[in-house]
Amino acid sequence: MFDYLIVGAGFAGSVLAERLASIANKRVLIVDKRPHIAGNAYDRYDEAGLLVHKYGPHIFHTNSADVFNYLSQFTSWRNYQHRVLASTDGQLFQIPINLNTVNSMYGLQLNSQDLEVFFASKAEPLKNVRTSEDVVVSQVGRELYEKFFRGYTKKQWGMDPSELNSSVAARIPTRLNKDDRYFTDTYQAMPLHGYTNMFENMLNHPNISVLLNTDYKEVINEIQYKFMIFTGPVDEYFDYQYGKLPYRSLEFKFETYDMERFQETGTINYPNDYDFTRITEFKYLTGQKHHKTSVVYEYPKDYGDPYYPVPKPENMELYLRYQALCKEEKNTLFTGRLATYKYYNMDQIVAQSLAAFKRILTLNNTADNT
Ligand code: FAD
Ligand code: UDP
Repeated sequence: MFDYLIVGAGFAGSVLAERLASIANKRVLIVDKRPHIAGNAYDRYDEAGLLVHKYGPHIFHTNSADVFNYLSQFTSWRNYQHRVLASTDGQLFQIPINLNTVNSMYGLQLNSQDLEVFFASKAEPLKNVRTSEDVVVSQVGRELYEKFFRGYTKKQWGMDPSELNSSVAARIPTRLNKDDRYFTDTYQAMPLHGYTNMFENMLNHPNISVLLNTDYKEVINEIQYKFMIFTGPVDEYFDYQYGKLPYRSLEFKFETYDMERFQETGTINYPNDYDFTRITEFKYLTGQKHHKTSVVYEYPKDYGDPYYPVPKPENMELYLRYQALCKEEKNTLFTGRLATYKYYNMDQIVAQSLAAFKRILTLNNTADNT
């Protein structure tokens, strides 16, 4: 008899498993249909002995001391600040767009104040910023939008940025200074021995049993449990009764090259050329020393593993119908990127799980006292 059956061993499921087992002393079974723990953050050593991320590059960043301190119980860290270049018109430019990007693209020598004036002269002011096109065009104008955003977004999402919620392009800021870091969060670091190692440490507890290679539906009738935590796709849980929630997928093509360095920074984006969106060289992220190097090319796809919920108004409406079903489901908590159909980063998922654990504790304490 388990207290909790947790479906999915990614961040959402593993953080809750760890808290329930070690703080609330609950017996937990965590089931994943994949042959490994760590969900999309899973990393492994490839044939050449290079640490690679099987489901695309995962860079950890957060402003939350709580999240960072929590994970620090299970890993040491390597400081790493991600930098990205975008290849457009045959040249490499810093992205997010910043002072250096504009100066090198137009051969100018603007300072931050000049850049504000420059953007104001190019921007198309909008009262109502609704779409991803609106976000960029209203800040930097149409030319920079066409060079850096339109093609990339069309490739990545299979639709024009004008059809996509503003939240997608709003992930990428515009900067008036020369800061060329991809993220500006307080904590930016990679697990020193990789994500999988960190998850192994989280799940290494006598109260936790892990069952891999198993779809929860195969075992649900054979397992006794009091409460379920579901972190898989919410539409799948309800047998797609209102139809499929759209996801964007990716195919990852890994290459190992017989050279120390392949490219000049961790990730190079290709907004307007090729079928892939970006190339990431793992050694930048991991700091590994090796005479060879491994990279991953990301090819966006409509079908395949559900990686990205697609933020569009009609998809949100469909999700809300599933969410109403979730609320009626007894003794089941739906959490994580797939079960809440939201484009969350890893740290947001950890924060969500820590908050869910606090709510569970409060409910248990209230039940114990009545
Ligand atoms: P997942 O990691 O997807 O875990 C869900 C688990 O549930 C999976 O292991 C799945 O196999 C399992 N499951 C599903 N259905 C079933 C079933 N029926 N039975 C049993 N098990 C099931 N975030 C960042 O912060 N930084 C980044 O740089 C970053 N890069 C990313 C790059 C890519 C290409 C992608 C796709 C995402 C990236 N993310 C990044 C986001 C990050 O992957 C997610 O925030 C995080 O993995 C979400 O964790 P989760 O536990 O909700 O979901
Ligand atoms: N984006 C873009 N050009 C870029 C980088 C990002 O158009 O050079 C847009 C694109 O729509 C992308 C979104 O901004 O999907 C978010 O980018 P991010 O790098 O955060 O994507 P993720 O790492 O989540 O795939």
